[in-house]
Amino acid sequence: MPQSDLVFSSQHVQKVSEEMQAVSQSYEALFTDLGEQILRDIDQEERDSQQVQITLKQIEQALEAFSAYFPSNDKVACQKGCGHCCVFPVKTPPQFIPFIADHIKTTRSDEEIAALKVKMQQNIEERQPPLYRALCPLIDNESACSIYEHRPLACRLFTSPDVQLCLKSVADGSSVSQQPIRYRVYQSATVALQAQLKKNNKPYEQIDFIPALLAELT
Ligand code: SF4
Repeated sequence: MPQSDLVFSSQHVQKVSEEMQAVSQSYEALFTDLGEQILRDIDQEERDSQQVQITLKQIEQALEAFSAYFPSNDKVACQKGCGHCCVFPVKTPPQFIPFIADHIKTTRSDEEIAALKVKMQQNIEERQPPLYRALCPLIDNESACSIYEHRPLACRLFTSPDVQLCLKSVADGSSVSQQPIRYRVYQSATVALQAQLKKNNKPYEQIDFIPALLAELT
């Protein structure tokens, strides 16, 4: 039987442990660096819509880099026309509200916006404790997001390994495991958008998506 040249010892365990801790710190720093890079880039821009576009571009590039060097075998059940997650309450950094409102104003007629506002008001009234579930008024008749390219970060970061987990979460509030890297990238971007507002003495807390969007459209 071939024998390893390495001899097991507590010193060897300690050495490997220290190496793993160093790698772990480098990995964590990737997400901090991403957030700081986004903050530097968006801080050059006063317009909310531009800040969001810059952030989305940075997210896309980060996800490409991570998927190239950290390939994932995580199962993802999400597909167009599913929409089960579109009943969860959504919070967003404030910059997304004018970004999405501008998109709606430039792509829909006055009648369509008036009808949407009625649905948004209904959604706010339907969203009751304890779980605050109500179908998003921006979902279309085919259970697809009608503002897909403009949807909030919270909608983008959500992934599920199994539709049944989503249905269970809708019913009882249980959690759905997320793809860790994707989740961390979107978290870094969210924190960067908030940090930009905080730095400029503006309200920076995440806000309830539908009530804020309704106010912006009114
Ligand atoms: S904005 Fe789009 S993705 Fe987000 S909850 Fe509404 S329909 Fe779903």
